[in-house]
Amino acid sequence: MPALAHAAVKWSYRCASCGATYAIVPGRYLCDACAGRQQPDRPLEGVLEAQWEGDAAREYGPRGIPLPVARHWFPPIPVGHTPLWAPQRLRDELDAPGLWLKDDTCQPSGSFKDRASLLVAAFARQHGLCEVVLASTGNAASSMAAVGAAAGLQVKVFLPASAPVAKRIQVLQYGAELVSVDGSYDQAFDLSLAYSRASGALSRNTAYNPLTIEGKKTVSFEIVDDLLDAGAGAPQHVFVPTGDGVILAGVVRGFEDLIKLGRLARMPTLWACQAEGSSAIARALASGHAGAQAFAEPRPSRTVADSIAVDVPRNGVHALAKLTQYAGRAVTVSDAEILDAQHRLARGCGLFAEPSSSAAFAAWLKVRPALAADDNCVLLITGSGLKDIQAAARGLGLER
Ligand SMILES: *Cc1c(COP(=O)(O)O)cnc(C)c1O
Repeated sequence: MPALAHAAVKWSYRCASCGATYAIVPGRYLCDACAGRQQPDRPLEGVLEAQWEGDAAREYGPRGIPLPVARHWFPPIPVGHTPLWAPQRLRDELDAPGLWLKDDTCQPSGSFKDRASLLVAAFARQHGLCEVVLASTGNAASSMAAVGAAAGLQVKVFLPASAPVAKRIQVLQYGAELVSVDGSYDQAFDLSLAYSRASGALSRNTAYNPLTIEGKKTVSFEIVDDLLDAGAGAPQHVFVPTGDGVILAGVVRGFEDLIKLGRLARMPTLWACQAEGSSAIARALASGHAGAQAFAEPRPSRTVADSIAVDVPRNGVHALAKLTQYAGRAVTVSDAEILDAQHRLARGCGLFAEPSSSAAFAAWLKVRPALAADDNCVLLITGSGLKDIQAAARGLGLER
């Protein structure tokens, strides 16, 4: 009786700070009570998580992924199920038999962001919303534009004028409306929120829309299933390039689900990999404080890795709480280490990653002496190197 089985799983939003619950409906973004604490230039307060209750294994199948929007609303574009592969030459060279690459350069728009855009687009279709708006450092914009094109949605993006040209051209090719902001990502964020409030368009701003966190959890399911199928066991360490901290929180969410479903025994060690010039979450973790107090005055970000360059990490409070709860770690790497790692990864195994993703490889190179040699270390390679050719050219000494 599928109708009865369907009624079994119940979805809601839950405030990650105070536990208040809300229905998953258009216009609901943050917790009413906690958002009132919001200070200017600080991470978001009152970030919500999607949660489910009931027999999810039965409803979604033994290998299914519980998601708060039914599958038939998903737009027709092949997001997810990216390869998890073993870079054999690097493994041999570095004596790292447990090194794995989760290759999200293969996503339709070339970045991990497609996982979140897919769920947001599905939600828009379910509720008959035709416009989606967002601010982005580049990849979220090109991603939402791509998935929006597949879904037949109008997409408007606020992008700092400094965003890499490939990402801007992607946005326009996919037919989205591009508003170039003469300022930082943080200013674009505020402008896009104002627009969504005034127009009623669905906001896909990262962390602000809880479905951006939820959509990203699919990667954890794929990692656990693919490692199992490879006969490799469970992941011990996952290296996550981190800017706003939404990928990090989504990855944790996925593992939490898998533990709840009995498909994973324990939380892997999460490594938040940040650029030295954009390290707010690493600094907050080191401060020993919790909540927004852990985040001091924002420092202007300065790094070659544009996708993880944020002054104010929007999901900072939430990501910090997850790192603390599960004894996660943070590691920072310099721009020189990032560009070096980019070339080393590309020539060492054939995967050309953008600087943000190369930061995960650089971070792993830095901490691996302290890890057991055969532990499964999964690196999230979140974006293609072709997305920022100028940075890659700099890494080769061809441009300054
Ligand atoms: C957005 C992005 C990140 C960082 O994700 P956050 O949620 O901001 O921490 C990392 N890599 C790529 C390629 C991205 O586009």
